[in-house]
Amino acid sequence: MAWDDEYDVVVAGSGAGALAGALAAASGGLRTAVLEKTALVGGTSAYSGSAIWLPGTRVQERAGIGDSTESARAYLRALLGDDGNAAHREAFLETAPELVEFLERDPAIEFEWRAFPDYFDAPGRVDMGRSFVPLDLPVERLGELAGLVRPPVDRDRAGRGHAAGRPLAQGRALIGRLLLAITATGASDVRTGTALTELIVEDGQVTGVVAMTAGGPVRLRAARGVLLAAGGFESSAELREARGVPGSAGRTMAPDGANTGDAITAAMKIGASTGLLDQAWFCPGLAMPGGRAAFTLGFRGGLIVDGTGRRFANESLPYDRMGRCLAAADAPFYLVFDARSDGLPAISIPSAAPEEQFAAGLWHRADTLAGLAAKTGLPAAALASTVERFNGFAAEGADEDFHRGEDPYDRYFTGGGPCLVPVDRQPYVAAEIVLSDLGTKGGLRTDPDGRVLSGADEPIPGLYAAGNTSASFTGHVYPGPGIPIGTAMAFAYRAVQHMRRNHA
Ligand code: FAD
Repeated sequence: MAWDDEYDVVVAGSGAGALAGALAAASGGLRTAVLEKTALVGGTSAYSGSAIWLPGTRVQERAGIGDSTESARAYLRALLGDDGNAAHREAFLETAPELVEFLERDPAIEFEWRAFPDYFDAPGRVDMGRSFVPLDLPVERLGELAGLVRPPVDRDRAGRGHAAGRPLAQGRALIGRLLLAITATGASDVRTGTALTELIVEDGQVTGVVAMTAGGPVRLRAARGVLLAAGGFESSAELREARGVPGSAGRTMAPDGANTGDAITAAMKIGASTGLLDQAWFCPGLAMPGGRAAFTLGFRGGLIVDGTGRRFANESLPYDRMGRCLAAADAPFYLVFDARSDGLPAISIPSAAPEEQFAAGLWHRADTLAGLAAKTGLPAAALASTVERFNGFAAEGADEDFHRGEDPYDRYFTGGGPCLVPVDRQPYVAAEIVLSDLGTKGGLRTDPDGRVLSGADEPIPGLYAAGNTSASFTGHVYPGPGIPIGTAMAFAYRAVQHMRRNHA
């Protein structure tokens, strides 16, 4: 085999899972390559709020919030049951404290707990949440590396870089800190513009990859293993359609041109098995000009109706749960609010400029509900009676239909104010809401060490997967903030530990 470069570990992708795995490998002296298809490092992880759900670690202990491995176990068991996922759950719980200790040992990495409630009322829940975030990162600490980190979604979609003079925050801080730590090991190459296309198998073992670069294909050896952490297939309209993922490639939140399922496809070609392929981390999206969507959460006013003019869910539900309600209902959907709110009564990422939304025909304004119905095509009588009933609930402070405001998560975003706010002040506004997602969550089936399983349920030697390239052990459930990134990091770390043990 003629190799263009030889490494111990090749990691495909550069999100939080990929970089955590690369750091674990490179800090242990393994020569490591990080392959990133686009020109920028970080993928959707860089867009994220960087909440990390790794329970029972020193971070929660420092914060004194009463989190523990045991309570997290009770919570996950209550949500997921024991069937089929217990081994992954235990591996995840066991790894979380060790992983965080490993990461924080690096001078570039520091976390702090941040309130953000778990998403379900279940035993073991921490009401104010157990996830944590990285500290903001002064851009000077990154030096030239700063230009490699994918900017926040609003600036990135507009083709702009990081805001000058501001520290990197949230997902950018996480990616920046991991990049800093990896670079300091001196054992890792971060190769942007390098897309994994094929896996090389010799004697039944994955020994390397073929990757496409601007200069043509390269063959890279991976003596210990290949870790596939190259996102899901949320941006492939074809794969979404074939697998029946609700929503659309145009309205996913992943960066343009990033996650089209390349790693999953390459692994399937050598016999890897898949699971959960119709699943995503769903969310409501605010319809944006150009057919895009903005991740929308934290509704603190208004109500959402479907095409019949009726409410169909608690608008304040955690976003994946609300996304699933959208997927089950009939579009179009509108968030109806009024002059009480100065702009959208919710957080949208990216944020929306109301006048642009009106100009694009995505928001409608009228002095009466009947006028709003005429502009949106919603049935006027149904809309009027829905709003009247909702206003009655607001006056009583109790939502008899969907119990909005009864859960700590609902109230988290209202700053202590009510979740049920009457809609009765002119002008009325209807903003179009669509189903969006933060990425698909089905993919390669793995064992608890991140080893990719064949159709015969056997680990494929030398091949590992984590993050949205793998089928999440959380199935159809999004337990709490930071689960995508927390699980991606934990299983990438475990994969590298396995590579090390296996070759000791
Ligand atoms: P990504 O982070 O998307 O990384 C995949 C990378 O692989 C991309 O850079 C892509 O270009 C690259 N790639 C693709 N194909 C190839 C190839 N063939 N070769 C090489 N590279 C390739 N989750 C949380 O846990 N906490 C949060 O706070 C949170 N907040 C969010 C906020 C927003 C606004 C959004 C949009 C999402 C948020 N999420 C959050 C979800 C989370 O960001 C993603 O689910 C998660 O980051 C996915 O990680 P990943 O490593 O699987 O994929």
